[in-house]
Amino acid sequence: MIKYDLHTHSTASDGTLTPTELVHRAKKQHVDVLALTDHDTVAGIEEAITAANAHAISLIPGVEISSQWQNAGIHIIGLDIDIQSNELLAQLQQLQTLRITRAQEMGRRLAKEGIPGAYQGALQYTKEENLTRTHFARFLVDQGQAHSISNVFKHYLAQGKPGYVKTEWPILEKVVQWIKAAGGIAILAHPARYKFTASKMRRLLQDFKNQGGVGIEVAHGNGNRDETANNIKLAEQFELRASIGSDFHDPATPWSELGRLPRLPADLPTVWDNGFQRGTSIVETTF
Ligand code: AMP
Ligand code: MN
Ligand code: MN
Ligand code: MN
Repeated sequence: MIKYDLHTHSTASDGTLTPTELVHRAKKQHVDVLALTDHDTVAGIEEAITAANAHAISLIPGVEISSQWQNAGIHIIGLDIDIQSNELLAQLQQLQTLRITRAQEMGRRLAKEGIPGAYQGALQYTKEENLTRTHFARFLVDQGQAHSISNVFKHYLAQGKPGYVKTEWPILEKVVQWIKAAGGIAILAHPARYKFTASKMRRLLQDFKNQGGVGIEVAHGNGNRDETANNIKLAEQFELRASIGSDFHDPATPWSELGRLPRLPADLPTVWDNGFQRGTSIVETTF
């Protein structure tokens, strides 16, 4: 039985492990095929490939792209992408710029709330200056503004809270096109997290499918059984291939451990059925 984990983060975005450490941990958790899918960047992929070659893990180059559909924020995973794709790299570069502008505005809003220096503070928590809300959350917890990351989100960073900045992420159609331009497959990440009504979710999936979306993440680290069962139904209904990924960020959150994912029904079509083209070989290489 091959163990897949196709949604994970490293220090290239808001994970706490370097790509090398992430691959080591995945190996310990008996993951055979690992995708690194940092937010809006592929900066960690080359390091992950080097580590994967040394540890007989198959590393699939990936990315989790911030997007919007009908004014709601959604995340699209690109898997098996060519990380040299000029189109994709140019667009990710723009998203990095957008993230910086947004983070500066978050800093200004938090300052108005009596928390100065959050932009510079959050920057200290990044390795690649790829700023996410998670970096702000870590800074605010260490500043004693809240007891936990989830509390920071609840009081400051979630939609409608003082530090939240509405961001014009690229629309779904464009994001799917960039992933296709890079030879990859587009997968809708963690559908249950958007809290859409059933009919809105069906509309999203129909649009996604029409635009060339291939897969849907049916199980992730924080998901529960009902969610997974519902996602599987949606996968079947819309003829989308099933994907699974822990959305691992940090060893301190054991509920999203690498590779800890449910088994899927044997007859369910998956994103790995046809094999990946750009995954590193699972066979140990000796240099
Ligand atoms: P951003 O892409 O900058 O908006 O940051 C989104 C990231 O924040 C997500 O990928 C999660 O890692 C994290 N996040 C969002 N909501 C929460 C929450 N309620 N608790 C903890 N982390 C969260
Ligand atoms: Mn994240
Ligand atoms: Mn996500
Ligand atoms: Mn993620």
